[in-house]
Amino acid sequence: MILSDILKDVKSVGITGHIRPDGDCTGSVLALYNYILENMPEIDVDLYLEQPGSEFYYLKNIDKIKNTPEDKKYDVFFVLDCSSLDRIEPFISCFNNASKTVCIDHHVSNTGFTDLSKIEPQASSACEVLYGTMDADKISRNVAECIYTGIIHDTGVFKYSCTSKKTMEIAGEMMEKGIDYSDIIDNTFYKKTYVQNQILGRALLESVLFYDGKCIFTTVTMDEMEFYGVTGRELGGIVEQLRLTDGVEVAIFLYQTGEEEYKVSLRSKKKIDVAAIATQFGGGGHVRAAGYTAKGSVYQIINSIGELIEKQYNAM
Ligand code: AMP
Ligand code: MN
Ligand code: MN
Repeated sequence: MILSDILKDVKSVGITGHIRPDGDCTGSVLALYNYILENMPEIDVDLYLEQPGSEFYYLKNIDKIKNTPEDKKYDVFFVLDCSSLDRIEPFISCFNNASKTVCIDHHVSNTGFTDLSKIEPQASSACEVLYGTMDADKISRNVAECIYTGIIHDTGVFKYSCTSKKTMEIAGEMMEKGIDYSDIIDNTFYKKTYVQNQILGRALLESVLFYDGKCIFTTVTMDEMEFYGVTGRELGGIVEQLRLTDGVEVAIFLYQTGEEEYKVSLRSKKKIDVAAIATQFGGGGHVRAAGYTAKGSVYQIINSIGELIEKQYNAM
């Protein structure tokens, strides 16, 4: 799939990603938006997304993102880094009105919900898949910043098992475009606010090891989030730190989103397929990183995950 083919004679394009956009989602939609603006100026292009975190504000044209859907009919509507239609809300009307829909993604759980798609479950990131649709010579420094950002976030700075030689080569090419790669890594991936560090500390303090130390979980309640003045999006580093605990295979992080409702993040190291677990509960993701929204008490949620982990171990 080549962008210049898909966009031949196309007059209007809409782009979106998934709810609660992360670095890969934000990077990929802005990479595509900027690439079209710079190389296909005759096309009218709009970008729809929930507003990304302020750590991404160095990305070109992030201020052009529309947070509410418009009543327009697009020739082509792109959905990036998103595995199913329920995750593009509230922009479903733009999707339904479009003449042609295209998905560019890397989720193993992708349901194949568009007319055209390029889904590469082996790819590190949607940015890596998107790069494959572009003409490398036409990638500007601005677009390179977006792509590099996505790769950094979805590989945990080149360390998760989704990182490949190809990932590194693309990242290297982006570096050659003159981006400030050190700042991108420090300012968007590692930098934490004071309260983020405080709530991380608290969550780690209250973490619980179970299943002979192979699993670990912790929870952040709505009251705690209110006390520290943080949103769910700012809690991303917690599950990563849990995952690093010596001896742990699966890390589980829950943050409360309502009465008996939690956003669940799952990470595994080498053995357990957490995408399979998340998919069972209506979510999705990747083999080593997945998530879903769960109803019930913390006890019930952890128990139900534990059962599926045990089943996987028993089948090995
Ligand atoms: P998270 O734990 O939210 O960082 O998500 C880890 C991975 O799982 C990401 O690639 C997400 O896109 C994916 N994911 C998280 N929640 C869901 C969900 N409800 N449905 C499908 N995929 C999800
Ligand atoms: Mn994502
Ligand atoms: Mn991604």
